Amino acid sequence: MKAAVCYAFGEPLLVEEVTIDPPQAGEVKIRLAATAICHSDVHLIRGEWGGKLPVVAGHEAAGVVEAVGEHVTLAKPGDPVVVSLLRSCGRCFYCTTGLPHMCDGAFALETERRLHNGRGEALLQGISTAAFAEYTVVDQSQVVPVPADMPLDRAALLACGVITGLGAVVNTARVRPGQSVAVIGTGGVGLNAIQGAVLAGAHPIVAVDRLATKLTAAQLFGATHTINAADQDPVAALKELTGGQGVDYAFVTVGNPTAVAQGIDMIRPTGTAVIVGLPHKGTTVALSVGDLVLNERKVIGCLMGSTRLRVDVPQLVALYQHGRLKLDELITNRYPLERINEAIAAMETGEALRNVIIF
Ligand SMILES: [Zn+2]
Ligand SMILES: [Zn+2]
Repeated sequence: MKAAVCYAFGEPLLVEEVTIDPPQAGEVKIRLAATAICHSDVHLIRGEWGGKLPVVAGHEAAGVVEAVGEHVTLAKPGDPVVVSLLRSCGRCFYCTTGLPHMCDGAFALETERRLHNGRGEALLQGISTAAFAEYTVVDQSQVVPVPADMPLDRAALLACGVITGLGAVVNTARVRPGQSVAVIGTGGVGLNAIQGAVLAGAHPIVAVDRLATKLTAAQLFGATHTINAADQDPVAALKELTGGQGVDYAFVTVGNPTAVAQGIDMIRPTGTAVIVGLPHKGTTVALSVGDLVLNERKVIGCLMGSTRLRVDVPQLVALYQHGRLKLDELITNRYPLERINEAIAAMETGEALRNVIIF
C-alpha cells in the first residue's frame, strides 16, 4: 500500500510503497477513505514536539473496516467507521470513571510496529494512527461505526478537530445557556468551539483571530462578534464588548503563549480560561497568582474535548444529519495522497480550514 512517510523533520513527506501487518488481538485494519490534515500533524512532521523518525502522521480519518484481529467486538469487516487517535482500555482508573480520553492502559501498538518500508525499516504510527496511508491498523477502541449514508470525508472531521473544539465547550467547560464565550483562533478547532457554544446557547460568542477570512468563517459558524487581533489589542476590544467585564469562558485553540495569556486576561472574575491548543514542547506562561486568587480565575487544560468517542461521535453524526452541525463548510479542498505536501503547505498559510486527503 502507499503511505506518506516523514524521514526528516521539516522535509516534504515521501509517498512510497510500504507494508502493513495484519491486525493483532483487539485491533482492526481500516481501508481509509479520507484523512483530514490537522495542525497537530504539521507540528509532528516539523519536529516541534520532538519524537522519533521515520513516522507516518495523519490522525483525523474515516474508512471501512477491512479485517479484524481476535477478540474484536466493537466493529466488523465492512463497517464504515471514524478512526481517531483516542485509544481506551475500558479498565483503567480513567476509563472506569468516564474519562476514556485520559486512558493510561497499555497497548501492543505502543511498542510493536505494524508498518515497514521497502527496506524493512519499521515506521512509527504518528499520533497513534498513521492515517496518511491507504490502510492503517489501530486498536478497536479507536474506531466508531457510523451510518452507511454518512459521507466519510465529513465523518473524518469527527475524529479530532470537531470533537476537540465542540467537546471543549460542552464536555470540558459545560457552558450553560446565556454564558459568554470568547474563542481565540478560529481554525478547524476554534470554529467547532464556536458551534459548540451555539449548541450550548452561549451569548455573546466572540471570535478572535488575525485573519479576516477566518473571522468571516467564524460568523458563518455562529460567532456573534469578531475581533481581528492583527488590527487591535484583542483583550481591550473584548473588554469593551462585554462592558468591561470579560467573558465567562475563553477557549484558547491556538498553541502559543501569547494567546494563552490573552485568554486568561479575557475572562471575568470567576471565569475560566480553557486551554485547548498544544504549543511547542516546553512552553511556559507567567501567571499572576494574586489575580487568580483575588478574582477566582480558573485556568484549565482540555485534551481532545474530554471526548468519549462512543458517546460523542454518534451524537455528532445525528446532529450533522439533522442540519444542526456544520461539517461540509469545514472542508476547504480535497487532494489525492500524491499531492499531500501541497495540501500541507496550503494548511500552513492559515487560509485553509481543513484540507482532506481522499483515497
Ligand atoms: Zn488533530
Ligand atoms: Zn483505560
